[in-house]
Amino acid sequence: MLILPLSYMLFSTLAENLARMEETTKRLELTSIMVDIFKEVSQDQIAHIVYLLQGKVRPDYEGVEVGVAEKIIMHAIAKSSGTSQATIQARYVETGDLGQAASLILEKKSQTTLFAQEVTVDRVYNTILKMAQVGGSRSQDMKIKYISSLLNDASPTEARFILKILLGSMRLGVAENTIMDALAEAYTGDRKNRPLLEEAYNVSSDLGRVAKTTAKDGLGGLESFSITPFSPIRPMLAERIRTEKDALDKMGTGFAAEYKLDGERVQIHVADGRVEVFSRKLERITEYYPDVIEAMPEISKSNNIILEAEAVPVNADTGEFLPFQNIMRRRRKHGLAKAVADYPVLVNFFDVLYVDGQSFLDETYDKRRQMLQYVIKEGGMAHLVPMMRIEAEVDIVEFMESSVNAGCEGLMIKSKDSIYRAGSRGSQWLKLKQDYQKGIGDSLDLVVIGAFHGKGRRAGTYGTLLLATYDSAEDMFLSICKVGSGFKDEDLDTLYQTLGDKILAKKDLRVNSIMEADVWFAPELVIEVVAAEITRSPIHTTGKADNDSGFALRFPRFTGRIRADKSAEEASTVEEILALYGGQAKTT
Ligand code: AMP
Repeated sequence: MLILPLSYMLFSTLAENLARMEETTKRLELTSIMVDIFKEVSQDQIAHIVYLLQGKVRPDYEGVEVGVAEKIIMHAIAKSSGTSQATIQARYVETGDLGQAASLILEKKSQTTLFAQEVTVDRVYNTILKMAQVGGSRSQDMKIKYISSLLNDASPTEARFILKILLGSMRLGVAENTIMDALAEAYTGDRKNRPLLEEAYNVSSDLGRVAKTTAKDGLGGLESFSITPFSPIRPMLAERIRTEKDALDKMGTGFAAEYKLDGERVQIHVADGRVEVFSRKLERITEYYPDVIEAMPEISKSNNIILEAEAVPVNADTGEFLPFQNIMRRRRKHGLAKAVADYPVLVNFFDVLYVDGQSFLDETYDKRRQMLQYVIKEGGMAHLVPMMRIEAEVDIVEFMESSVNAGCEGLMIKSKDSIYRAGSRGSQWLKLKQDYQKGIGDSLDLVVIGAFHGKGRRAGTYGTLLLATYDSAEDMFLSICKVGSGFKDEDLDTLYQTLGDKILAKKDLRVNSIMEADVWFAPELVIEVVAAEITRSPIHTTGKADNDSGFALRFPRFTGRIRADKSAEEASTVEEILALYGGQAKTT
């Protein structure tokens, strides 16, 4: 492979490797291409490369949005190439990909360019970063200028990837874990060291910084990572159980149970007179909670703290819990004040991760809960999540009943001695939902990977969606069912719109499906589905080994919930399906 050992990397080198990554479906190959890149790039550039590989320029929580509208990009292509908008549009329709269209148009032009200035990774990165930061009335013109100056000097392949990054359509299929594998191999010589990188990532949510530190100082450097306000912590997750008895079997006696509320998980950081809120996906969502920000100084006795809570929408008149979807009505730029007034929230605190300069991650559940009780002043919108110490099965049955009567989903079961394991799903936290108890294998969060065109009343939208589970070991999405029921007309509209941005020309590299869909999507959207039963099936790939059958859902039905708060990697896993299938065999 042609990689120049320069102190700076040419963007063409990166683009060639990105093109190779696009071609392969194998995770090992993807990893080894990245290892090659990482080995050659200078320590100062590594963070930039890691962000670009993920189609970003900064970690998500900083809220630096790269996305540029197609219209602006078309203007820039016209400016650089002297081609008319109509021709660009025609090429776009032909190829279905604006990056590809630009590359074809620039191919003709590139032979005539004489004085191109070098396009380095730094130049592309810095230009995209500047572009993401320009605002104001002239921002459109500035963006066109920035893009066309890059396109003037870029080769067709470089242009294709620059535009893919700008359009947010660079889908290389590399998950964070794969990048960490490659970093561990490139800088420590052994992929097995990934967990150490992961620990640093769990408390910083900044993969670029993890990469740079590992490159510069090796594994020792990672010890400098510690929890700090305004860098979100990757959340601890729970394993699913089906019955109260399962809780006792897994935990023994003497554990805690809390109501499992149905809202949005929020991580609230307070320090230096500032308050920020982060989502479960580690995005900055402060602007949607002006009421919470205002109330925080009253709520918390400490002004240097990181807390976790579930924000639940309530009826402004009656104070009753409302379905989780209502909170999403705050996700808007215009009319936010009205949405906040119409959909007030209760903030139900359930954990504390840091207080006054000290990490609480390694403290036990009991200690953290004690601190929470001390530090939170209940009243107004602030509450502690109701908790009960469980000694016997009758306690948990009773507490489950009162949780459901209070309008909650069920219980979270937490081991008393457990520390906060950031970024991991383990058996220290268990979730028991009421609906897991009815029917078999109820309520799964599945990733939409494809669709089939609708007929009759559903013509013009999708009639059926193809859904997948997540296989974390292989970092792949495996098909499990087609779902066509449970959709209201407005659901179909919303899904059609949302999925429109995710359409791919061919099946995503991380999708494994025997079934051929009419339309393929980038595996990003998670929806909630219930089903009657899990069965063996030769046509689905979840849990399928060689010639054996995989698993499928019988009578799947959409519950009406789009899980915008979950990333595709947080969808139900193959292991969960196997566990549910095992449990089913026992109970039927
Ligand atoms: P699930 O989304 O079904 O995987 O369940 C986990 C989610 O439950 C968390 O991410 C929180 O948003 C939510 N949750 C509700 N109540 C609690 C609680 N008491 N402790 C922790 N998480 C909770």
